[in-house]
Amino acid sequence: MIPKIKNYISQIIILRSLKVRIFLIIFLAGIIPSIVMRFGILENYVDRAVEVREKDVQNQIQILANHLTTYSYLQDTSSGIVNAELDQLSTLYDGRVLIINQNFSVIKDTYGISEGKTIISEEVIKCFKGENSCNYDATNHYIEVTTPIIDKTVLNTASTTSGDAATATDAQEIPAATESEPAIMGVLLISVSTDSIIINQEILSRKAAILEMAMAIIIFGIVFLLSAILIRPFNRVADAIHAVKEGFADEVESVPDYLETEHIIDAYSQVASRMKVLDDSRQEFVSNVSHELKTPLTSMKVLADSLLMQKDAPIELYQEFMEDIANEIDRENKIINDLLSLVKMDKTAADLNISNVNINEQLELILKRLTPIANKQNVELIFESMRQVDAEIDEVKLTLAFSNLVENAIKYNKEKGWVRITLDADHQFFTVEVADSGIGIPQESLDQIYERFYRVDKSHSREIGGTGLGLAITRNAILMHRGSIKAASVEGEGTTFTVKIPLSYIA
Ligand code: ADP
Repeated sequence: MIPKIKNYISQIIILRSLKVRIFLIIFLAGIIPSIVMRFGILENYVDRAVEVREKDVQNQIQILANHLTTYSYLQDTSSGIVNAELDQLSTLYDGRVLIINQNFSVIKDTYGISEGKTIISEEVIKCFKGENSCNYDATNHYIEVTTPIIDKTVLNTASTTSGDAATATDAQEIPAATESEPAIMGVLLISVSTDSIIINQEILSRKAAILEMAMAIIIFGIVFLLSAILIRPFNRVADAIHAVKEGFADEVESVPDYLETEHIIDAYSQVASRMKVLDDSRQEFVSNVSHELKTPLTSMKVLADSLLMQKDAPIELYQEFMEDIANEIDRENKIINDLLSLVKMDKTAADLNISNVNINEQLELILKRLTPIANKQNVELIFESMRQVDAEIDEVKLTLAFSNLVENAIKYNKEKGWVRITLDADHQFFTVEVADSGIGIPQESLDQIYERFYRVDKSHSREIGGTGLGLAITRNAILMHRGSIKAASVEGEGTTFTVKIPLSYIA
């Protein structure tokens, strides 16, 4: 349900604006309580006013009922005092007073319409039984109150007083008062209009509506300003980022107004500095590539020029220079091949060609291929396999990686040195360790050896045919397999590279 509403809201373009949302939330939060309060208070006002009016009328009618007995009004309706009181009461409450005697006959009606008529209503009958009643008719806006007129001087003797009434009502039963009770001589009924209450309610409602409108206009203005002010820091964030994007600023300006804006700026700065690092490294790579590619060309040019300059150069010199030129061409070729391998390794893991490979056989093949080079350098190759290992790998890419490590171990070794390749595995990973007894790598260079074109000793590496790309290719291939590579070295004693790769390929 909630995601559905969210989806619906996000489809209404205007509601996607944070400013509009803040505006609506504050506006509604300001206006809804006042609407609810208006209805609540006004509804309550009517109930309360009717209640007060009922109480008032009940008190007045009680006093009047006593006066009626005092002035024997039921026997003689000419009492000026009582009549004045009746008029006053009906004027005061905009109501009608009816006095009904024991025969259910109206002996007094302040409207003067029903005198002499008989009234047999439920309330009147109940009243003769001693029950007061008070009813509010909300539809027709009036309160009807009845009270018995009791003469305490006349006690009920058996049911003589009620005998006449019984005849008058035929079917109705008139109070069967007990002997000791004072007799109910009649009923006083008053209907009071509540129009004034309703009119008051309407007036109040109108005033409240006007107040509410005024409030809504004021809240609208305040919220309009507030939402603009609240949203301003986010606009400044956008401006700051825009300025960097357009090149007007080098660094994104901080917007510390909110924690949120600070976080956005921080995150952006991190992305920007990462992009800068990437850009710098790309530029560095391009200039390194150009430099590396130019070096063999420059050598070839120098060799060719010096041959051309010597008109009668001996054939031996030609031969020697042509050999050098051929070496430089090989070197250029090697650099280009390494660069191509590196580009391949820079691709995503989706380009891996995974198959199940026996690592023992793979390493044995690599060593077999490199044995002639090792022999040439007088370096002994030792292979130690702890167990048979099958793993899901890209055979071509990892062969290149392992070959580079073993080749380096041979290249950067000493006379009569050794290279030991150890293969082991646990239930999750297989480990290939390439240890040598070579020249070692200085501690401060251990972190840099994987960088493209980085060489501890440039001229030595160049001499032995290094391009500075081998370890970069190796590391990329291992990372594509979600593996790791570590190097430990003691200068002058040797180096150990440890490669750890998952047995099952993790996509
Ligand atoms: P290169 O083509 O120059 O060998 P690499 O990327 O393979 O380039 O290696 C980078 C540098 O790390 C090398 O130039 C060398 O200085 C150092 N290095 C790599 N392997 C070894 C090793 N086994 N022993 C000593 N130095 C090494």
